[in-house]
Amino acid sequence: MLIVQKFGGSSVANPERVFNVARRIAETYKAGNQVVVVLSAQGDTTDDLIAKAKEISKNPSKREMDMLLATGEQQSVALMCMALGELGYPCVSLNAHQVGMTTTSIYSNARFKKIKPDRIQRELDLKNIVVVTGFQGVNRFDDITTLGRGGSDTTAVAIAAALHADKCEIYTDVDGVYTADPRVVKSARKLNEITYNEMLELASLGARVLHNRSVELAKKYNVELVVRSSLTKAEGTVVKEVCKVERMLISGVAGDDEIARVSLIGIKDTPGKAFDIFATLAKKGINVDIILQSIGRDKSKDISFTIAETALADAQKVIDDNKERWGIERVDYNENVAKVSVVGAGMASNSGVAAKMFEAMFNSNINIHMISTSEIKISVLIDKKDMHKAMNAIHDIFNLAD
Ligand code: ASP
Ligand code: MG
Repeated sequence: MLIVQKFGGSSVANPERVFNVARRIAETYKAGNQVVVVLSAQGDTTDDLIAKAKEISKNPSKREMDMLLATGEQQSVALMCMALGELGYPCVSLNAHQVGMTTTSIYSNARFKKIKPDRIQRELDLKNIVVVTGFQGVNRFDDITTLGRGGSDTTAVAIAAALHADKCEIYTDVDGVYTADPRVVKSARKLNEITYNEMLELASLGARVLHNRSVELAKKYNVELVVRSSLTKAEGTVVKEVCKVERMLISGVAGDDEIARVSLIGIKDTPGKAFDIFATLAKKGINVDIILQSIGRDKSKDISFTIAETALADAQKVIDDNKERWGIERVDYNENVAKVSVVGAGMASNSGVAAKMFEAMFNSNINIHMISTSEIKISVLIDKKDMHKAMNAIHDIFNLAD
């Protein structure tokens, strides 16, 4: 079998862990498999490099940032090959340039365009364990790019797709995907399986187990993923197209408190306003999530929407610059909000899920500000202070613990 194994930064944080992982890789290799390993930077390396850059420049060039951050992964792969060498296994480390991992040109947030399988394949044919840098790529200017924080997962999936690997295993410091963040919901339970679509929703809802784009890619190329612990032998969670076990109604609860609500109050009620407002925000790269528009009254209406907290300053500027033109009476911003969501492929064919979720909010005396739904997800916007309470209440009412 051809197996791609990705290990996160905490799994290779120090020499002892590097050797632990090396032994784990060796086991897979010894069993007769071809092994491609993808690594993140050790421990807090990426954060430390960002801090180093900040000591030099408040607003460093993104090209140079990528040049700097990519060094973290390069350290990991070289050290891992040294460890595998110490254990007596043939291996070779490769960076994005050596492999030929081409991305778009956007520094710090690049996307893969093409991965050449040739070099990796040649090394595998020579019976080498191939250890590849996660997180980085090369753009059409031959410059180093990075894929955004957490991007090494995406490298692993992209390589698995390019090589038509039999398995893609993502090793991390938790033993799988949970029904909720176990630090918030004590009774959270590990899932054995989850669909790509559910995982996509959870990943984008702040369940930070997998890089969002890695799940998108896995779905697109039908790469079955296993998320499991690098520290234990526990089975982990399989992420795939269809789950065969009896379909659970709800698979998880997620919370995100790094968001803000913007309300535009007293907008002239004429056609084209929403188009103008959201097109202008989009042009500035501001991603809008939940949108709510009130029924018009006295020839005016209100529109509220949520954005990432980090986009708030940019949004404020865009709104200030266009307020007159849009004819807005008043703008209201609120950072003390959180979004809590339930996700489950089973809800598409079941009624009453929303009502049950609202019942949980009511029982806990939590006020709902906004609601949004999709086929497999229901989200509510609530006060930030209520987020943990809400997640627990929802987890309980849907009996996710058993
Ligand atoms: N080292 C990068 C980060 O810390 C990429 C990754 O870990 O996946 O975001
Ligand atoms: Mg990660």
